[in-house]
Amino acid sequence: MRYVSTRGKAPILGFEDTLLAGLAEDGGLYVPESYPRLGDSDLAGLRGRPYHEAALRVIAPFVGDEIAADALARMVRDSYAGFDHPDVAPLKKLGEGLYLLELFHGPTLSFKDYPLQLVGRLFDHALARRGERVTVIGATSGDTGSAAIEALRDRAAVDVFILHPHGRISEVQRRQMTTVDAANIHNIAVEGTFDDCQDLVKEMFADARFRAEFRLSAVNSINWARIMAQAPFYLRACAQLGGRVAFAVPTGNFGNVFAGWVARCMGAPIVQLVIGSNRNDILTRFVESGVMQLQDVTLTLSPAMDIQVSSNFERLLFELWDRDAARVADAMEKFRKSTEFAVDRKTLERMHEIFDAARLDDEGTKRVIREIYEATGELIDPHTAVGIHAGRTCRRDPAIPLIAIGTAHPAKFPDAVEAATGKRPQLPPRLADLFTREERLAVLPKELKAMKDFIRARLAVRGAA
Ligand SMILES: *Cc1c(COP(=O)(O)O)cnc(C)c1O
Repeated sequence: MRYVSTRGKAPILGFEDTLLAGLAEDGGLYVPESYPRLGDSDLAGLRGRPYHEAALRVIAPFVGDEIAADALARMVRDSYAGFDHPDVAPLKKLGEGLYLLELFHGPTLSFKDYPLQLVGRLFDHALARRGERVTVIGATSGDTGSAAIEALRDRAAVDVFILHPHGRISEVQRRQMTTVDAANIHNIAVEGTFDDCQDLVKEMFADARFRAEFRLSAVNSINWARIMAQAPFYLRACAQLGGRVAFAVPTGNFGNVFAGWVARCMGAPIVQLVIGSNRNDILTRFVESGVMQLQDVTLTLSPAMDIQVSSNFERLLFELWDRDAARVADAMEKFRKSTEFAVDRKTLERMHEIFDAARLDDEGTKRVIREIYEATGELIDPHTAVGIHAGRTCRRDPAIPLIAIGTAHPAKFPDAVEAATGKRPQLPPRLADLFTREERLAVLPKELKAMKDFIRARLAVRGAA
């Protein structure tokens, strides 16, 4: 399989180069030249299979012959072997025609473990084969950092530096990162905000000498391999229900819901994809108006969606415009300059063929968490609640089952869940001692020089060891 940039000016790459590149050279995002289609019997064949077997069937055509079949199969199997639930991605019935796809049984309790556990292994495999090392640097406001750390801990060819805003993430989120005891993991608490962290990361990447010296790399959500590794849970859930379905997906960066769109391209009988937004509702406003317009970020009870720029939307735009890369590049340039761009009616109509969207504020989020608890006895996290609300609001055909994506374990956001229900969700036994484990982190000022000196010193020690 070959991969092209949404902006049309970057080299066409194979799977491994796409994996290691992350962002394309022209600022665009890589997508496959075409989407492989699974036949009806292939789809039905995903039913009742162990998660890793279903995932391998979905992923293999995207990888092609670049990775030996047995090596790929082993990586996929290992990725999900340590998950807490035997089904890995269980589909639970919440009510008549309403299902919850629980994607929070991985090591860090959010759906990000599903793609990142595999991407970490793919990275290590590609680097080992090439005899290369990289330094992964990233900023996190919570879930991505811990999922990346768990996926990359103890990997031979990778050092990982994750910046988080000091004192501004939840204690569960911080401890999931700082209590990981691995020599290649380095946590930095920055005396500043999440935006400060992200700016520091961008500055380090922009420094060509520093970037080349330490071979900086990223595993953020614009990496194609992450999208690819999310398609399996959509396809497998469809196969399990065995007919047409709708999905409701709480969205920040548009990554997860785009994976649903990919699953549909591959043949999944998905008739509707509903986008759930919190107060940061740039995507819902776009679906209503056809105008993508940046606003300030508001902090909410669903912090993984406190995002304004939904980077992965560029991939959908590329498809809505029949892969007209020049048109995408123009729109993105306009968005960067004026923080706004608009699409025509035809484009919006094409989007409405499959997508709908709804927003929910924090009060509404707590109300939905309480309602679901009272009706079913299940505790759900705030992100999942936003998705369920959107799904119920926008549902087109009540006869078609609606699958809400459960993106985080309720115990990751215990305060919001307790405020809504009076019941405090418990961490899985594996994490029961999280609050007594030793933490490792460096607190640094929001200064580029301090950051670089720290990274240089840590890597020198690693190199000498
Ligand atoms: C990252 C995240 C989301 C948003 O996913 P996108 O791919 O950015 O749309 C939703 N819920 C949780 C819990 C997350 O960690």
